[in-house]
Amino acid sequence: MNYDFIIIGAGPCGIFTALEIKKLQPSSSILILEKGNSIKRRICPKRKTDICVGCKPCNITTGFAGAGAYSDGKLSLSPDVGGNLPKYLGYSKTQKLIDYVDDIYLKFGADKKIFGVDKDDEIREIRKKAISGNLKLVECPIRHMGTEEGYNIYSRIEEHLIDIGVDLSFKNPVKDLILNEDKKIIGVVADKEYYSKKVVASVGRDGSDWLRGICLKHGIEVETGDIDIGVRVETRNEIMEELNEAMYESKLIYYSQTFDDKVRTFCANPGGEVSTEYYDNDLAVVNGHSYKSEDLKSENTNFALLVTKHFTKPFNSPIEYGTHIAQLGNMLSGNRVLVQRYGDFKRGRRTTEERLHRNNIVPTLKDAVPGDLSLVLPFRILKSIDEMIEALDNVVPGIASDETLLYGVEVKFYSNRVVVDEYFQSNIEGLYVGGDGAGITRGLMQASVNGVVLGRILTKKGSY
Ligand SMILES: Cc1cc2nc3c(=O)[nH]c(=O)nc-3n(C[C@H](O)[C@H](O)[C@H](O)COP(=O)(O)OP(=O)(O)OC[C@H]3O[C@@H](n4cnc5c(N)ncnc54)[C@H](O)[C@@H]3O)c2cc1C
Repeated sequence: MNYDFIIIGAGPCGIFTALEIKKLQPSSSILILEKGNSIKRRICPKRKTDICVGCKPCNITTGFAGAGAYSDGKLSLSPDVGGNLPKYLGYSKTQKLIDYVDDIYLKFGADKKIFGVDKDDEIREIRKKAISGNLKLVECPIRHMGTEEGYNIYSRIEEHLIDIGVDLSFKNPVKDLILNEDKKIIGVVADKEYYSKKVVASVGRDGSDWLRGICLKHGIEVETGDIDIGVRVETRNEIMEELNEAMYESKLIYYSQTFDDKVRTFCANPGGEVSTEYYDNDLAVVNGHSYKSEDLKSENTNFALLVTKHFTKPFNSPIEYGTHIAQLGNMLSGNRVLVQRYGDFKRGRRTTEERLHRNNIVPTLKDAVPGDLSLVLPFRILKSIDEMIEALDNVVPGIASDETLLYGVEVKFYSNRVVVDEYFQSNIEGLYVGGDGAGITRGLMQASVNGVVLGRILTKKGSY
């Protein structure tokens, strides 16, 4: 069981690492160990029954293509969005690599259309309104694969990796690393021991808890990062029409008047559905996606409103902090996602089934439980979200309506940043990290780019 390279996790970062290694060094042996299923076996029963049956591990977040398989498949084509890679690689290098990876997605069948590049007048008008609401508009061209087309594209990539001789081992989570007496990596422990002097840990958000434990156990250096906590907003498509048509996904940033906290819109899904993400510890958090096909579009648009919190010494456990808040929501809802009308949120009262039925907006997350987010979110987060919604009303008139839906809790667990050198190598020789799980990226494109860079570094071929 000796390999030239072992990759832990078959998300976009792991997949693109393998693709690039094979391109530059075709004869090398690569093993990808993945906790979840192959893409064909990633079936979520909830898609038919509307009720989560608690698959272990969750088929939405684990398996080939990781969190990408059932994502909305939006490829952000600007270095400004989706992670910290420009900090590591520089802005123009990151842009070049984005173009390179975009080409690969196109070759595997991504739609040629790019949103946000041909509507200058409309975008000028949106920016004008954003300024009047104290919001910063970030422009980012988007290629939208869509949930079902993204799934097909990743299915083709899985077949291609098998064809070019990459070993894929599914339902085989890595439990530990094997280090020699010099503290250099020599392999990993999964169902059995596998040996390699070069190991990439690209375990995504789902694996960030595991990675944290491994870092503690083996003395791998980490630094405390930020955490993003907030809600998912859902409204009717007609309210969001102008933004959706001009930009598909509009990125707006606000600094709250009360706390000066950063609040941003994230992951907009026109005609999409709100979804639940389950983590290993049964934690239910909210997310969203949308299909490409017109037949599968809903009447609603959803997007996240996230408040960024940076903690200072002595506190160094932002993941636990976020988990704790999400658990509080789960406690009140019987392990589901809570939903509240904005009008009830503002007036400090619970949303009930009866109040929900007064709405034009029908929730797309069918098993969400009407409740009260003020029993869950800290005042600072609540206040920042409230201010942001009022500010957004300048750009999207109608978003501050009583019937806008807020789902909670949305938490982004990319806060555990592994300290790496310029080659994405940790302080353990031979252990490289990348993607969302290492706190380096936050989206499909940058996770994939990180994979390409790792492939070039590991083979010592090609400049990055
Ligand atoms: C519902 C949803 C919608 C999204 N929509 C978008 C979008 O439209 N655009 C965008 O840019 N981003 C989107 N994202 C985020 C995007 O999916 C992630 O940023 C991206 O997948 C990160 O890639 P990664 O390779 O770092 O990690 P992941 O994709 O999370 O992959 C990591 C893999 O590692 C595996 N793993 C974890 N621990 C272990 C272990 N111990 N042993 C073996 N395997 C392990 C996991 O099972 C997983 O398959 C979305 C995410 C979700 C959940």
